[in-house]
Formats: sequence, C-alpha cells, structure tokens
Amino acid sequence: MNFCSHCGASVELRIPSGDTLPRYVCRQCATIHYQNPKVVVGALAVWEDKVLLCRRAIEPRHGMWTLPAGFMENEETTAQAAARETLEEACARIEVGELYTLIDVPHISQVHIVYRARLLDLDFRAGEESLDVALFTEDEIPWEQIAFRSIAISLRHFFDDRRSGQWGVHTASLAPPPPEWR
Ligand code: ZN
Repeated sequence: MNFCSHCGASVELRIPSGDTLPRYVCRQCATIHYQNPKVVVGALAVWEDKVLLCRRAIEPRHGMWTLPAGFMENEETTAQAAARETLEEACARIEVGELYTLIDVPHISQVHIVYRARLLDLDFRAGEESLDVALFTEDEIPWEQIAFRSIAISLRHFFDDRRSGQWGVHTASLAPPPPEWR
C-alpha cells in the first residue's frame, strides 16, 4: 500500500500507539488501514451420488477442477456467498445445507469455508470463470487435477463421511506447501 484510500496522501508502515503490529498509517489524515484475512466460501453441491465441480477458466490453477467457491462480498452471509458463487461459476441453483469444512490457510491470510448443498436441478453450465462444469461420482473425481488443497480435503471428508454415515464439521489448518507446489 502506498497511498491513503481516504485522502490520497502517502502512508507509512508503523505500529500505532496501543497496537502490537505494524499498520499502514496515513501521514496526513492518520487513518489506520487495517489488513485482515479474507474469507473464501464454497459449496459442495450434490445430485444423487454425484458432486458438482467447475473447471477453472482463470488463474490461479487455470484448467484445474474445484468446487464453486470465491471471496465473500461485503454485506452478505457465508451461506449467501456459497449460493452466489455457485450461481456465478456453474449457473446452478442450490439449497445451502450444513456448514461442512472450515480450513485456516494462515500463510496466505485466508479462511476457507465449505457448505454442503443440494443441487436443485440439472440446468447448469459453465459461468464466466469456468471452462466446464460437471457432476462426478467418487470414482470419477480427477484427484490429480483438484485446484486447491482445501477443496481436496473437503471432497475426501465428504466421501469418507458418506461411507460411514457420520456427518460433522471438519476443521484444519494448512501449513505452507512445499516449494515445488507453489
Ligand atoms: Zn489519509
């Protein structure tokens, strides 16, 4: 950050009095620009024994498969974000169900949340940010081509829980990946 979004003057990085971490502080109007983690919300939408996946048309991980998911917008709930992202990326309507996974990704300052959901009809297609959208059985999941670790973790839990019939909320905290994955 170089300039204050409030008045346009330059900012400096310093620890404000009473604080413990360096913040961008405006040299002119003294506004403190806090930077906090971003929340990514997705939906694990199910039709019969199949799960809805999108093939990414954007970076990062162009061409790889993921659950419909994206950054929360201001003034929406996490469940609304899951439904909105599913509509945008897969043009699909869902009924959002239970909270399913909550995964901290501290090295990139993100929190990933996935809801279970029910696909309401089969009238879906690739949205602007997707190359393709399709339903996959467990055997068909392209495990080597899943775009993000939090999504792969959510899918693994889903098929394990479905087998055992024991559903719950799963949490995890991801360490930075090895350099060859970055
Ligand atoms: Zn300012």
